[in-house]
Amino acid sequence: MRKPFIAGNWKLFKTIAESVALVTELAPLVATANGVEIVVAPVFTSLSCVADAIAGTEIKLAAQDCYWEEEGAFTGEVAPRLLKDAGCSHVIIGHSERRQYFGETDGTVNKKTAAALAAGLVAIVCVGETLAEREGERTFAVIESQLLGGLAGFAEADFSRIVVAYEPVWAIGTGKTASDAQAQEVHLFIRELVTRQFGQATADGLRILYGGSVKPDNVKGLMAQPDIDGALVGGASLKAESFAAIATFNV
Ligand code: PEP
Repeated sequence: MRKPFIAGNWKLFKTIAESVALVTELAPLVATANGVEIVVAPVFTSLSCVADAIAGTEIKLAAQDCYWEEEGAFTGEVAPRLLKDAGCSHVIIGHSERRQYFGETDGTVNKKTAAALAAGLVAIVCVGETLAEREGERTFAVIESQLLGGLAGFAEADFSRIVVAYEPVWAIGTGKTASDAQAQEVHLFIRELVTRQFGQATADGLRILYGGSVKPDNVKGLMAQPDIDGALVGGASLKAESFAAIATFNV
């Protein structure tokens, strides 16, 4: 069965001291989590200190992005192996904010995901439609091209270290969550697409997270859907109490 997965994306919030304080407060609150994989994604500058602070806890560490080269003249970029070196086990790739503001494309998502896997990281690959795309009834077409483009060339074996996050752009940071049924419909579509492209066993094992204004009061309904295996949480992950309430949804 698929292990539930709850990840907190801290975006561009929190100093090193604030990041360490947050995980220090979070760790005892999620110690009772029931078979849930828990990941936090601070800004790059906090990664190493947060890695030290979560040592010996069940919390794992993700970066919010990476580059695809191992080293070289690429000013400002961070290679997956350096994220590993800083204590990361996971990396978020293709978040809609990176697509919207920083020119991320399905092609760069593909290269970054390949590099992340090569470095031994788990890649959390994000897809999601905008409001205009949903209203234009292009949701499934958009998800299909993002997923097939982002994951082109991967083999079934790679999927043991790939997690997909479905994040409708209109629901991120807006307080508008997709309904349980809207989210489930797209998650099922993703699983069927992965079945067609990569086989039934790969699809059955793939964890598909929902992201978009997940809060303590809506997580249970979402997690009750058969194809929703976890959540990628932005705003509500910035406070220990609300993120812990989400991560312990099944206690
Ligand atoms: C996110 O940043 O991935 C996200 C889903 O944000 P929020 O939970 O604030 O909508």
